[in-house]
Amino acid sequence: MDNYSFDLARIFLGDLSLLFLFEIVFRTVILFAYLIINMRFIGQRSVGQLSSYEIALIVALGSAAGDPLFYVDVPLVHGMVVITLLVLLSRIVTALGARSRRINTLLEGRTIRLVNDGYLDYAGVQQSVLSADEIYMEMRQVGILHLGMVKRAYLETDGMISVFRYPKDRIKPGLSIAPEGDPRGAVIPDDDYFVCERCGYYKPSPAITRETCPNCHHDVWIHPVITHDIELKMQ
Ligand SMILES: [Zn+2]
Repeated sequence: MDNYSFDLARIFLGDLSLLFLFEIVFRTVILFAYLIINMRFIGQRSVGQLSSYEIALIVALGSAAGDPLFYVDVPLVHGMVVITLLVLLSRIVTALGARSRRINTLLEGRTIRLVNDGYLDYAGVQQSVLSADEIYMEMRQVGILHLGMVKRAYLETDGMISVFRYPKDRIKPGLSIAPEGDPRGAVIPDDDYFVCERCGYYKPSPAITRETCPNCHHDVWIHPVITHDIELKMQ
């Protein structure tokens, strides 16, 4: 570093001649066209639905396509070979995944049950690595106010949560999922019953006891909320 100088020409242009800029234009056009042609063979999917395997593929493709654009000592063919190999490998892996459910699960992950009959499937929630708050946020976005409205919820392999509601006449009292600043939300408490504070497991007996929740082993029970007479309350 003895010969170091703050040289703007070197910072902006490097040590290579200006002609290299034209080479970069040429390299970019060729490699970008080649990448686009290859991407057509990977298959159609929107960005929101990428599995972790597909994200890995895109990161690898990005590096293979990026480096030869401006590194003078990386020839275009090296990048092209890597792109072709990645696309071929992804085709093979996708074909294997279509034949074997186990391989598909390995690549795409598995669908995880998050809510079962009105309370959190605690084993599923732990497996999902999502916090309860994250799950509740997703549910509020589809109009869920408490867990008693939900028959089933699944974390899909693309990261989306599918929610299956109970029909209106079968909604049970459930754990409120209103945010902290609005503790009761648009719901009213049902003081006769109790649900587990952590997972919403419904306790059909009105008596409060010291027993732990059979679903998540938590031991704090709170009153659930109900929604079916909101209209009556508002009059
Ligand atoms: Zn519980």
